[in-house]
Amino acid sequence: MTTLPTLATPQIEALNERFEVADPREIVAWAVETFSDGLSVGASFGGASGMAILHMVAALKPNVHVFVLDTDYLFEETNETMRRAVPALGLGNVQVYKSKLSHEEQAAQYGSALWMRDPDLCCELRKVEPNRRALEGKTAWVSGLRRDQSEGRAETPIVSWAPKFGVVKLNPLANWTEQQTWEYVVKNGVPYNPLLDQGYTSIGCYNCTIPGVQGRAGRWQGFDKDECGLHT
Ligand code: SF4
Repeated sequence: MTTLPTLATPQIEALNERFEVADPREIVAWAVETFSDGLSVGASFGGASGMAILHMVAALKPNVHVFVLDTDYLFEETNETMRRAVPALGLGNVQVYKSKLSHEEQAAQYGSALWMRDPDLCCELRKVEPNRRALEGKTAWVSGLRRDQSEGRAETPIVSWAPKFGVVKLNPLANWTEQQTWEYVVKNGVPYNPLLDQGYTSIGCYNCTIPGVQGRAGRWQGFDKDECGLHT
């Protein structure tokens, strides 16, 4: 079934023009007021942007629906960041979504180490499908994408319609730089993943992430891929 956009294209265009010069906190405040319980925040507990977004939303709506995609291949540091950050930010409605297949079932069905042969399928099974379930019944999804994270994200809109998930997609930090994001995180004492102090600049599954490479280039080494399919 096709879901019709809840915001018409002219509205989205007008919002993008307005928000291009807005502080991310103003965008988050608008989102909380506009979508209320229809709002959902995707959290990876990996990057600094996502932590800044959680801090901004929690300040206004601590019981906002926050969803985490647990692929079964998350770094222990990521899980520990979640355990630390949820109470620190006062988040009261954090839900974890997993693939319908355990990693043993995935290996039995598709062969072992699928991420080394077909990472798009692995991401579809362990991220995209659970993301769809997480957003069922929701009207808007807040994410922490920034335009300076990769070439492919350089045109990231602040407001858009995400047809794959049938929700309005919001990227309040789209036009912030890495430096602005870190200044916010440090100034506000926002908890963050310790791997970011150990040479990792983008943190996903441990199978597909290496340190010491700038931006998202440390993800899916050896493949022409730097997105998992959630944001494309
Ligand atoms: S990032 Fe790697 S291990 Fe994680 S879901 Fe995608 S392909 Fe699989």
